[in-house]
Amino acid sequence: MTARIEIIRGDITQQNVDAIVNAANTSLMGGSGVDGAIHRAGGPAILEECRAIVARQGKCPAGEAVITTGGLLPARFVIHTVGPVWNGGKKKEAMVLSNCYRNSLQLAATHAVNSIAFPNISTGVYRFPKPEAADIALTTVKEVLTQLESMERLLFVCFDEDNYNLYSSRLNS
Ligand code: ADP
Repeated sequence: MTARIEIIRGDITQQNVDAIVNAANTSLMGGSGVDGAIHRAGGPAILEECRAIVARQGKCPAGEAVITTGGLLPARFVIHTVGPVWNGGKKKEAMVLSNCYRNSLQLAATHAVNSIAFPNISTGVYRFPKPEAADIALTTVKEVLTQLESMERLLFVCFDEDNYNLYSSRLNS
């Protein structure tokens, strides 16, 4: 059986799931938007592990993902993935965004994560067009979930109404 996909409106830091995904930047040193919210709510243990990861392997390239503790969050883990900056669409932005969802899910599966929450990666300061980003997110997770037997629940936590409406109307189409 593949995981149940749910669309909700809210704050990802409050979700009771095994892992939440952060829309980080390549430095992994925190930032604005959802990244800032996760570090504020999760406390300094998250940044500490991010620093250790960067010391070990350098910056996190766009499309890739790394995992840390959830610190003070309800979630046990934070999976930090780096979305593409929208640059007109001819710089492989769609492929990189798809890689974010795929690599995050695959990393989750290696840590016995049965429930996971995603934000709408790249649709904030990285300016990826929301309708296209929603299509890529849903298509990619549906495909990857067919190969991940252990995942039970996947949430898309939409912060803004535009994204909530886009995901809701696309989920079953
Ligand atoms: P990016 O740099 O990948 O565009 P942003 O954090 O600017 O990252 O935006 C990504 C998405 O996260 C946006 O849709 C934004 O509305 C949303 N967002 C911001 N804060 C939160 C939060 N606390 N929970 C869930 N989503 C959030």
